Amino acid sequence: MKELVLASHNQGKLKELQALLGQQINIRSIGEFTSIEAEETGLSFIENAILKARYAAKISGLPALADDSGLAVDYLGGAPGIYSARYADGQGDAANNAKLLKALEGVASSQRTAQFVCVLALVQHADDPLPIICEGLWQGQILQAAKGEHGFGYDPLFWVPETQCSSAELTPEQKNQLSHRARAMQLLKKRLAL
Ligand code: IMP
Repeated sequence: MKELVLASHNQGKLKELQALLGQQINIRSIGEFTSIEAEETGLSFIENAILKARYAAKISGLPALADDSGLAVDYLGGAPGIYSARYADGQGDAANNAKLLKALEGVASSQRTAQFVCVLALVQHADDPLPIICEGLWQGQILQAAKGEHGFGYDPLFWVPETQCSSAELTPEQKNQLSHRARAMQLLKKRLAL
């Protein structure tokens, strides 16, 4: 496999995944083929990753990789989970973070445990009966207030115990050593013998 299509219009995700995957396989954006997004109708990260990968393979005719990711907060029964991107009804990262802080108001630090989740699904073609699925988890804790300027999404609220700072205080290189996406990609590279 010399190239694959990524089932995401997010250029940030593409850059991060290309850096993690290395240069042996070129990652192309689904934006080259369509502007229409796949419907994420699954109830789990795995289901949605497979749906997105199949859609991208069908549209492009290329092997396809999808990344479905999000934040699962233990106190909230795993929410926002697969709804992480649209937790505050599509109003964006700042509104998502504000809603999360409100949901955890008055909750003690010891009960604010959470994990970032990343599921990567790779299909060779749209009907591939054996998608490769790799999962990465990153354990942390939800802060009482935002901290740090790097990253995106919930990074300013995610306390990383190993580095004693929020994930928005890590450089992109540091985050790529530790993150849920990095862990899932490490497994995928092993599966592909890269
Ligand atoms: P997806 O694009 O449907 O997979 O949604 C991913 C959502 O999960 C993003 O919009 C963020 O809100 C959240 N998320 C996933 N990975 C990260 C991360 O590395 N940092 C911060 N937020 C993340």
